[in-house]
Amino acid sequence: MKKQIQFRCVLPNGIHARPASHLEKVCGQFQCQVSLTNLRNGNTADAKSVLALVSTDTLLNDDFTLSFDGEDSLQAITKLTNYINDEFPHCDEALDTSVDDESITLPKSLLRHQPTLLQGKRLAPGIGKGLLINYRDIDLSTFITDIQHDEVTRFEQAHFQVCASLEQTANRANGHEKEIISAHLSIINDRTFVDGIKANLTSNSTANAILAMVEQISTQLSQSSSAYLRERILDIRDVSTQLLTAAYPSIDVNTDFTLTEPSIVIANDLTPSQFLGLDKALLQGLVLTHAGSTSHTVILARAFNIPTLSGIEAKQCVNAINSETYIDANLGVIATQPNEGVYHYFNRAITLNQQLIEKQHAFAHQQAQTADGKTIEIAANIACSIEAPAAFEKGAEGIGLFRTEMLFMDRSEAPDENEQLGYYREALEAAIDKPVIIRTMDIGGDKPISYLKLPQENNPFLGYRAVRIYPEFLSLFHTQLRAILRAAVHGNAKIMIPMIQSIEEIRWVKRQLEIVKEQLTQEKMTFNADIPLGIMVEIPSVAFIIDQFCKEVDFFSIGSNDMTQYLLAVDRDNGSVAKLYNSLAPAFLRLLNQVVKTAHQYGRWVGLCGELGADAKVLPLLIGAGLDEISMSAPKIAATKATLNRHNNEDCKALFEQACQCPTIADVQTLLDSATANKESKPLLATECVMKPADFANKEEAIQAMVGNLGLVGRTDDAYKLEEDVWAREEVFSTGLGHGFAIPHTKSENIRHSSISIAHLNKPIDWQSDSGDVDFIIMLTLNKTQGDQHMRIFSSLARKLIHQSFRDQLRASKDDAEIIAMLENELAI
Ligand code: PEP
Ligand code: MG
Repeated sequence: MKKQIQFRCVLPNGIHARPASHLEKVCGQFQCQVSLTNLRNGNTADAKSVLALVSTDTLLNDDFTLSFDGEDSLQAITKLTNYINDEFPHCDEALDTSVDDESITLPKSLLRHQPTLLQGKRLAPGIGKGLLINYRDIDLSTFITDIQHDEVTRFEQAHFQVCASLEQTANRANGHEKEIISAHLSIINDRTFVDGIKANLTSNSTANAILAMVEQISTQLSQSSSAYLRERILDIRDVSTQLLTAAYPSIDVNTDFTLTEPSIVIANDLTPSQFLGLDKALLQGLVLTHAGSTSHTVILARAFNIPTLSGIEAKQCVNAINSETYIDANLGVIATQPNEGVYHYFNRAITLNQQLIEKQHAFAHQQAQTADGKTIEIAANIACSIEAPAAFEKGAEGIGLFRTEMLFMDRSEAPDENEQLGYYREALEAAIDKPVIIRTMDIGGDKPISYLKLPQENNPFLGYRAVRIYPEFLSLFHTQLRAILRAAVHGNAKIMIPMIQSIEEIRWVKRQLEIVKEQLTQEKMTFNADIPLGIMVEIPSVAFIIDQFCKEVDFFSIGSNDMTQYLLAVDRDNGSVAKLYNSLAPAFLRLLNQVVKTAHQYGRWVGLCGELGADAKVLPLLIGAGLDEISMSAPKIAATKATLNRHNNEDCKALFEQACQCPTIADVQTLLDSATANKESKPLLATECVMKPADFANKEEAIQAMVGNLGLVGRTDDAYKLEEDVWAREEVFSTGLGHGFAIPHTKSENIRHSSISIAHLNKPIDWQSDSGDVDFIIMLTLNKTQGDQHMRIFSSLARKLIHQSFRDQLRASKDDAEIIAMLENELAI
């Protein structure tokens, strides 16, 4: 008899290929038939097929049933009930769709040149130039052929060949590329897909059977209300094209598409493998007619930093094919047939963009230190080893927290010693001797693992989790310690134990470590016996006897997420009490002070690895507390290093002491705000705003470059808006003052630090005013809040410029510093 259970889909992207392949694997462990029915649309499918599951169009909040028919139905029901409640919700995360739908006003510096523009949707940022090349779709109907006697062999050989090649690529790839190739492998091995094609081979050629399958699945997917599922059609076409090409090597469908010079590729659809086949050194941009932000091709384009737009068709720009074109995916346009003005605009925009990237990159790879030279290690938090290389690329100086529990979740049994060894070794090798803190599994409680069958708890955060479960799952703990000790010969590894609460616990852990080392010695295994041992400081009781812990362990890392919740008795995940969850509480700051000071007295190292570490506003307090390391998610690293560099260690120490004496969170906040306001001011005149010699082709480029520079040096957060403000004034009356000088100016809310920018041109340009050409520009961009300063400086400058001696002296200045000194003196700034 059929049995049924009902659930609600809680996955943000619904049951698409990735979660479907997890579900399919669990269902595949049982003999009984399992089918999924989506109660919203009535679609029913075989739950042992990824494609069939995907075709049910099960979206977030859809109710669905699983029906079981067969002998082991009862076991399957128990397993799947646990699986869907505990693990399925964590097997997928909301994708980075990072599309900015905010409309952008195109800059006047571009529009004044009357460019030919096509506007699209911004999918991956960046600016590029190259020949616009039309990537013509492969017409799959070219493969249509009559049936021959060896169709099954033909299909099986092609299937084998493509699987082998995908597996090879998957082994070589990493990150997004690996995930996408793995998704293609699961399509090509899907039983609906393979059985459906094979069933058709009795009366059809291989080609026609594959094409019928493409048609069938595409029709189902195209009816999905989820853009994400509709975008999977491209993956089906991709895999099928590879199968068809392998089955019919003699049919030439022009799959070879080779770029020979810098190019922007425009395509109706571009499959992930077609994208991977393009030479990334020559690919300067991608324009796709149909792609959405979650298409695999777009995810890859983002990973390879290729500027990408969608929503533009090749037929809209036929005249521009094979001619020089610009793509600006920050503005969301392509510019075809550029005239000279457009050409100068984009070349300048490319330079500014490149400088911005280099600046961020430079910060990422500089040693993290304060303005007065105090170094603090800035490290990354990771959850799996493949994140490590990207973290180091983003500037991590170590891995401050490797949350290994993720390796144990979302599977039917724990990874064995060798599998774990592989992960830890991968992270250590990516680190090349930089420290990697491997935290032993923090499982149980709110991070359930179904195969451990831990009891349900009313209060999981205070319950049976982390180090507390190790005695019961001793072999699991020993296996992990063995894997870490063995991996530690490949780099600078440290072990960290979560949720330690008492000296008894850490002494127990140390005994286990000795037992495991003894075993490895007996087995003549290579391992690192001197690996440092540390603990998370995330339970308040530890802070009060930190001196005792200093005698037991080598280092500490403060888990601010848990420490805040336990210290203040506020559930970190409960929205109703979220207002009370605040690490700026003076009690938390005093605890931080106590831990760091005492640990340092005993010569112990202290880091911090909770979310607090990535909060730029709190950084002065963390510096002032004297932490040795701060660990955070990798994308925050470059910005944190840049912010760190603006602070002074001595000032931060004084600020932290003051904060510890504050009675309330609001007082700490006010203290921080006032310190930031004082710290953040930049001088009105500075050499970073001087461009000498400047090479500008026209007035538009001058304003674009000078405002763009203010963005580069961090004086404006929105150069496009600031440029609008400068042009607004310019359009009322031209700011040419005669004698070769111009003073463009604005009083704007889009400038963070009021600035006077100076450009001494190497050849004069037409300022489009009656006062003649200009070779010296002094641009005033003053903050709106600064009263009448704007007009005061403007008129004072205008008065000075009447005098030839002043003009001559400015022009004769040897360098940027001399110009600044002169203006400071003359304008009394
Ligand atoms: C913490 O508690 O601050 C921490 C880093 O650990 P987790 O967030 O994994 O509990
Ligand atoms: Mg924690």
